[in-house]
Amino acid sequence: MQQPIAKSVNAPGLSRATALLAAILRRTLDVALPTLCPACREPVRGHGLCAACWSKLSLIAPPYCERLGIPFAYDPGPGVLSMQAIADPPAYRRARAAARYDEVSRAMVHALKYGDRLDLAPTMGRWMARAGLELLAEADALVPVPLHWRRLWARRFNQSALLAKEISRQSGVAVADGALKRIKATAQQVGLSQAERAQNVQGAFRVPAERKAEVAGRRLVLIDDVLTSGATSDACARALLRAGAGSVDVVVFARVVDGARTPI
Ligand SMILES: [Zn+2]
Repeated sequence: MQQPIAKSVNAPGLSRATALLAAILRRTLDVALPTLCPACREPVRGHGLCAACWSKLSLIAPPYCERLGIPFAYDPGPGVLSMQAIADPPAYRRARAAARYDEVSRAMVHALKYGDRLDLAPTMGRWMARAGLELLAEADALVPVPLHWRRLWARRFNQSALLAKEISRQSGVAVADGALKRIKATAQQVGLSQAERAQNVQGAFRVPAERKAEVAGRRLVLIDDVLTSGATSDACARALLRAGAGSVDVVVFARVVDGARTPI
């Protein structure tokens, strides 16, 4: 980062040298400072969680609902769906999540999104690629859930696009960034009921006419950081399917799971 150089009437050379020294020192400190665990802020070696937070993280593994990826309390055998998948099937075909949305995974998402901890993206993307392995094996392209341009401008980056880039590196599936646009600046979903969330994102996404060829007939995997009610993923999937997508699956970093589900 460029730092403004203080002006001095008497000794411009000296103040420039001081500023340069400060910049070098800052850069050296950046390298020397240990990374902090995004959940408990204790120093860690390398990137990601400390051992204690890692042990608290709840990664999702089978058995889970074939359709929604919601973990089951016991293994009902292959192909069994959750009650939710049958009662209220989403527009997307299947969803997979790397972890349950809990204290630790929430801290990681927040650190990436609001704390400039972009160094977490490779770890999170790697876990997502593992969770979505069978979906990615069949995929033609990854589509990150887009931000509205105003939010993108304020935040400077789209966390879903960063995660998609990492998953692409892991899986070899290309990213179709910009194939889906957020055309409505929706309110934050936090604090809204499930019906309000669906209402909030209705008509918020569209495939631009010039990007339809990238979507038509293709098997797409939507990438997002968190799946709460599924309303955002559902609205995105509807927009992609309307534009002719062959199928839409979803891979997220963390999903809300209220208790262990009993399969039906
Ligand atoms: Zn920790």
